[in-house]
Amino acid sequence: MRKSLIVCLLSLFCSVAIAANKHYVVVVSLDGIRWDYAQFYPTPFFHSMAKMGVEAIMRPSFPSKTFPNHYTLATGLYPDHHGIVANSFLDRVRHRHYSIGNSVTRNDTSYYKGEPIWNTYQRQGGKSACVYWVGSDIPINGSHPDSYLSYEEAPLLTFSQRVDRVIDLLSKPESERPHLVMAYFEEPDHSGHGYGPQGRQTANAVALMDSLMNELYNRIQKLPIAADVDFIVTGDHGMASVEPFRTVSIKAYLKKSWINRTDGDVPTLIYANPGCTDSIVSALKGVPHIQAWKKNEIPAYLHYGSNPNIGDVVVLPDIGWLFTDGAVGQHGTHGFDPTFNDMQVMFRAIGPDFKTGYTKQEPFRNVDIYSLLAHLLNVKPAPNDGDITEVEDLLNPSK
Ligand code: AMP
Ligand code: ZN
Ligand code: ZN
Repeated sequence: MRKSLIVCLLSLFCSVAIAANKHYVVVVSLDGIRWDYAQFYPTPFFHSMAKMGVEAIMRPSFPSKTFPNHYTLATGLYPDHHGIVANSFLDRVRHRHYSIGNSVTRNDTSYYKGEPIWNTYQRQGGKSACVYWVGSDIPINGSHPDSYLSYEEAPLLTFSQRVDRVIDLLSKPESERPHLVMAYFEEPDHSGHGYGPQGRQTANAVALMDSLMNELYNRIQKLPIAADVDFIVTGDHGMASVEPFRTVSIKAYLKKSWINRTDGDVPTLIYANPGCTDSIVSALKGVPHIQAWKKNEIPAYLHYGSNPNIGDVVVLPDIGWLFTDGAVGQHGTHGFDPTFNDMQVMFRAIGPDFKTGYTKQEPFRNVDIYSLLAHLLNVKPAPNDGDITEVEDLLNPSK
């Protein structure tokens, strides 16, 4: 009698779980899609996404760089807490240098703390797939998404092939079909660096990504599951113009003997030689176009400074400036204060869970995306820095 009750309850639970799992979530990251590109470049699809769904401005985390922010989107943790504190940094424990371009350190799972959403979802019975999302080809906590591609296997899929891949994943038989698909595209970041946010080539790249997203959306609409797909297009950070003459020289202010190493030109992490931190900070005090803090004195709103691998001193240039002695070979970059206008990120979403024609008034933090995805997928989020109530207004009240 008791056994049959348990069986009955179990089957009821399973049917509820399947019903709750009805929706699919497709998240696309367009690297460097500044929040206002859609206002000044031809982007008919991004406009129709706003009309058919929701539009918002998303605030990146500090530093507004690619790896820290993609991994924040995946985990809901600030870079200070998830460990990818920059695209390159010094690992003080192992006395080696982490860099996204160095295969050994990039693939070392011990750097990647927290739980990416694909692991959260799989741990709770769901299927997930990534097309090059940062961290997805690294076995974090021992697991990958059910489907993923290595970013180190050349040649990378073309943008059109990535769209095909998303459609193929969503066309799989139901038992194999992922409910979470996350895809990454390098544009418009690449053009933004090369030609600046106002460059004609950047305009073309934004227009291209708009039409590619339109194609992806139209192809999703032809699938039998179309009505059940939530489609999100966003990115990791914005883009600001930089010029060769807007630099602050490191060697003009700092003695070589004070420094073990420096990483980056915006922000710059300075690893001091023993006893030299104070000399560095006082030498940089009052220098125009930069701010410099000891790591434990970084303003609280940047949520940065507790991780041991952050430099002893962090230097943050004003928007458009770089702290470097190197040649400036680019016209745009990012990494600046995440509250600055040029660093904000476009966010658009359409689908059954999102309101129609809704514009969020205040920017929201990208740490909230993990909670949003967990909510859409109906799973319990792992501990994180985000808060679903910050983005609940985007959702249909019925959900
Ligand atoms: P940045 O603009 O310097 O913050 O970094 C952007 C670069 O990160 C892009 O040009 C990509 O080539 C690179 N990138 C993106 N995803 C990955 C990945 N999963 N592994 C290694 N590099 C990546
Ligand atoms: Zn990026
Ligand atoms: Zn970039």
